[in-house]
Amino acid sequence: MQLIDGKSLSKKIQNSIKIEVEELKEKRNIVPGLAVILVGDDPASYAYVSMKERACKSVGFYSITHKMPESINQSEIVEIISMMNRNPHIHGILIQLPLPKHIDTAQILEVIDPKKDVDGFHAYNVGRMVTNLDSFVPCTPLGVMEMFREYNIELEGRDVVVVGASNIVGKPMASLLLNANATVTVTHIYTKDLAHHTKNADIVIVGVGKPNLITEDMVKEGAVVIDIGINRLNDGSLVGDVDFENLSKKCSYITPVPGGVGPMTIAMLLSNTLKSAKQFGEEM
Ligand code: NAD
Repeated sequence: MQLIDGKSLSKKIQNSIKIEVEELKEKRNIVPGLAVILVGDDPASYAYVSMKERACKSVGFYSITHKMPESINQSEIVEIISMMNRNPHIHGILIQLPLPKHIDTAQILEVIDPKKDVDGFHAYNVGRMVTNLDSFVPCTPLGVMEMFREYNIELEGRDVVVVGASNIVGKPMASLLLNANATVTVTHIYTKDLAHHTKNADIVIVGVGKPNLITEDMVKEGAVVIDIGINRLNDGSLVGDVDFENLSKKCSYITPVPGGVGPMTIAMLLSNTLKSAKQFGEEM
């Protein structure tokens, strides 16, 4: 079994981004800028946002975080996004999800300028991704694709099962795999017999949010297992969605939690923001 080390790969990508940022500043006087909008006081969201802020700082980006109370209304959030759409120092806008229940998330995501949509959640970018055109691609599935590339894991013609079908993880993951010519099965909460699908897969990618959902008997010998899930246990420790200890003996490759997909998501956010800054630079 080989461990897919997302932490090291993320560091490597961040180091090359840092070099590109220095060049961009020197040669074209452009500093990539990211705006984060955080609503409410969910501790997990706060933790993710502060990780993103630190990452921005360490590669030399400009970043601002709009911290808004839970009671904020739809039009106030729209107003902040519109301001960020107009701000020439901002190349990427990220809304930390989930938003409070009284907010219409789908409508909010559509307000972001697609050119600044570094999370790739706007329907414009989703449509372009599905049709395999250049677009901003959601950071978590993009990070998983980077892992496959780095570890020379072949996708063409392979049977891949994606467990979980959300708009931010499972669905874009499935699109990227299809674009890479894999044979893709997407499973979700209503799937009748999950094990039937996972047992036959060359590659199993799980993003659900349930510890130990995928056990050793559910994957075949030599499978590649990518664990996107993040679950905090009562003792404070972080685990993914797979029974790592028993599964790892059987797999050819597996990602750990923490230190797997999580750090790659941050690296891809920086990479998408840099891409946006360069595109805006070309328009000037
Ligand atoms: P979500 O709740 O929006 O979606 C969960 C999906 O899992 C749904 O499609 C649901 O149908 C499916 N599901 C639920 N129970 C199932 C079951 N028993 N069998 C099969 N499918 C089942 O969640 P999300 O936002 O997509 O996040 C999923 C997980 O990924 C969470 O643990 C989240 O913390 C994690 N996540 C990690 C990263 C990262 O950077 N590593 C990024 C985003 C999300």
